[in-house]
Amino acid sequence: MPQTRADCIALDAADPLADRRALFDLPDGLIYLDGNSLGALPRTVRRRMTEVVDQQWGRDLIGSWNTHDWIGLPQRVGARIAPLIGASPTEVIAADSTSANLFKLAAAALDLRPGRRVIVSEPGNFPADLYILQGLKDLLGDRVELRIVEPSALDDALDDSVALLLLTHVHYKSGALHDMAALTARAHAVGALALWDLSHSTGALEVDLNGCGADLAVGCGYKYLNGGPGAPAFLFVAERHQAGFRSPLTGWMGHAKPFAFDDGYEPAPGLTRALCGTPPVLAMSALDAALDAFDGVALGELRAKSMALGQLFLRRVTERCAEAGFQRACPEAAAERGSQVSLRHPEGYAIMEALIARGVVGDFRAPNILRFGFAPLYVGYAEVWDAVERLAEVMASGLWREARFQRVSAVT
Ligand SMILES: *Cc1c(COP(=O)(O)O)cnc(C)c1O
Repeated sequence: MPQTRADCIALDAADPLADRRALFDLPDGLIYLDGNSLGALPRTVRRRMTEVVDQQWGRDLIGSWNTHDWIGLPQRVGARIAPLIGASPTEVIAADSTSANLFKLAAAALDLRPGRRVIVSEPGNFPADLYILQGLKDLLGDRVELRIVEPSALDDALDDSVALLLLTHVHYKSGALHDMAALTARAHAVGALALWDLSHSTGALEVDLNGCGADLAVGCGYKYLNGGPGAPAFLFVAERHQAGFRSPLTGWMGHAKPFAFDDGYEPAPGLTRALCGTPPVLAMSALDAALDAFDGVALGELRAKSMALGQLFLRRVTERCAEAGFQRACPEAAAERGSQVSLRHPEGYAIMEALIARGVVGDFRAPNILRFGFAPLYVGYAEVWDAVERLAEVMASGLWREARFQRVSAVT
């Protein structure tokens, strides 16, 4: 554990991921600790966008569906995400938003477990996940029952009426990390499937879906994968479930022969059937280019650095902001956290706004949580050191009390 800023600079110099930082275009002097919400811009994305817009779209026009294989982007991008989550290339496809993919997989899970109608999840899960389940319940009525229970009550909630256990691997607010292997095994013990939301895991820690026996998963393209605002999401269906998998959104891009223009729906082989409409080529291309930053990266190194950065941040907050009134809102042990640290403070919103004005970007989650994400590809040790120094200054000077930091924006 580094004791001085000089120690941090030495750690940065010895960091096996140090060369990755140059792949990102970040404003000089800015310390960006919000890659858990919107990943930074990889330089390859700008180059690819220029090529796709000017050449592929501008010059080659509609022929690009074939000549530049636009049509194959969902599968190709999915195959590149697969090694980051412990899946094989044909088990992952890029499509739609995380929310839409959750809907597709939760509905499909009920079909994969006929005779069972219960979906179990936890309160305080990311709202998208809970709202999607509520919509599915509204649509299917008695054919589905939601059991939203604290993880401590899972034993009671899991029985042979359960079709699906849906959990988010890393909690968006607290950063707490679920034990994927153990919880998947508990779902399987009662004959249920396990669906993991990997939005805050993919690209920041080691995920091993197949090693854990997971059945289904979804995840986000714009957080640690750096695919850009509103980037396509992805979904995973384990090979053994693919033949029985039916998407409730039977769009033409999921048809076995979309260009036969038949009246009747027939699902495509494999995961292509999870597609609905035409892929967003610009956004898919951006995500594809963003994934270059992960080429050759060992997930173990990513995770080791992410844990070290989080521990450094927490320790420095304890040392430098002891009187400031922060409470830790995340697990203390790095092994029990994803790649973020959360702090609680009654004035959290204004403090975060003042810190952003001082060049350290994290974010705020109501009612009182400050979140700091550590994207190991582009955040360094000295930056973490400096971030806490600036936080300490914001607290010591009372900068956050200024009226301009109290105004709440539409997006926090
Ligand atoms: C970010 C996030 C999402 C995002 O869903 P969208 O459909 O992209 O808005 C979903 N689930 C979790 C757990 C997330 O953290």
